[in-house]
Amino acid sequence: MSSAFRAPRGTFDLVPPRSEAFLAVREAMAAPLRLAGYGYVETPTFEDTGLFVRGVGESTDVVTKEMYTFTTRGGDSVTLRPEGTASVLRAALEHGLDRGPLPVKLWYSGSFYRYERPQKGRFRHFSQVGAEVLGTEDPAADAETVLLALDAYRALGLSQVRLLVNSLGSVESRPAYRAALQDYLRRLHLDAETRRRVDVNPLRVLDDKRPDLQEALTEAPLMADHLSAADRSHHDAVRELLADAGVVWEDAPRLVRGLDYYTRTTFEFVHDGLGAQSAVGGGGRYDGLSESIGGPRLPGVGWALGVDRTVLALEAEGSPLPARPGVDVFAVPLGAPARRRAFGLVAGLRQAGVGADLALDGRGLKGAMKAADRSGARYALVLGERDLAADVVQVKDLSTGEQSAVPLADVVPHLQERLT
Ligand code: AMP
Repeated sequence: MSSAFRAPRGTFDLVPPRSEAFLAVREAMAAPLRLAGYGYVETPTFEDTGLFVRGVGESTDVVTKEMYTFTTRGGDSVTLRPEGTASVLRAALEHGLDRGPLPVKLWYSGSFYRYERPQKGRFRHFSQVGAEVLGTEDPAADAETVLLALDAYRALGLSQVRLLVNSLGSVESRPAYRAALQDYLRRLHLDAETRRRVDVNPLRVLDDKRPDLQEALTEAPLMADHLSAADRSHHDAVRELLADAGVVWEDAPRLVRGLDYYTRTTFEFVHDGLGAQSAVGGGGRYDGLSESIGGPRLPGVGWALGVDRTVLALEAEGSPLPARPGVDVFAVPLGAPARRRAFGLVAGLRQAGVGADLALDGRGLKGAMKAADRSGARYALVLGERDLAADVVQVKDLSTGEQSAVPLADVVPHLQERLT
């Protein structure tokens, strides 16, 4: 039976048992970051609309078509965050982290919102774990973030993730390439919408998936041929570090990502088992982002990994999804005085670190034993009136069926011992 309401289009609920996989994926993504000394950051799920317009880029699809923007009762325009980097940078600047020791390494985990057309792997509410390294141009920071993402995928047992790497050049060298690309594109027969895109954001045209356009783009100039000496040496240094670490990647000279702030290193993790929405994560360097949101010069590099698509990738690979931990002990009290005693017993077990649960609603022996089996517990504690009178409880091993009476006062240490 459902209620009169359903989760909004493009969203879904996480309920057991599948919700466990989401928790495990988030934890697996965060673990390598914590191990590498990244600090946790949490920002509001909505921000001043201008932050995303200026940060993500006025002409991006995210800003022009996909933002959940609304005016508050106070008359301010706010937007549900479509991505994390602009917010993290805003927060870092607001709290003066850029004036302390650099680099600042941060990670986050949370919900993001884009008004996209829902399809498999593309949702309007989705979940990302992200990492950002602020205040360094060292290519080692770029390589480090890539390695930490790969550590997460490895820990999850994902084997079919491919890494695509490109350089989009620096804020200084991009304009010349942009002009060369525009020259080329203006000589093609394009529809009005694409022509407009050539004017405002020509790099995005490279990302157009239409086969006839892709065909026409085969001869298009590539950023790789327009990198400055400094960009080239940065890119070579990143690639050397990745190679030294044994990372396998594909050079993807046409990889441009959906957010305008990327400079130099850009990368994407794709999974071939996912169909059209194959990107499980992506990121890159954003050396000009701080200035575009009104901050000082503060280079940075980072990524966001999609939690939802990573779960889908695990399912596509047929990997066993993590299961709920479950309890070790399940109490089966028979009669009101036993229920009261069992309630305290279970609380004591939990305080001692033993996973424990008990039958509710005054269930009889048969129903309560069924609940004990379903709970996955190894031991049932059966507590009847006669047991109470004798100050004992029956400890039943649910796999062997063996049962023995244990004094009530000893049952917590007794179970702790048997469970180690
Ligand atoms: P982006 O912020 O666009 O670089 O996206 C980073 C990652 O977030 C992508 O690789 C996806 O795994 C995930 N992602 C982005 N948009 C969506 C969406 N609408 N639904 C589900 N996952 C998404």
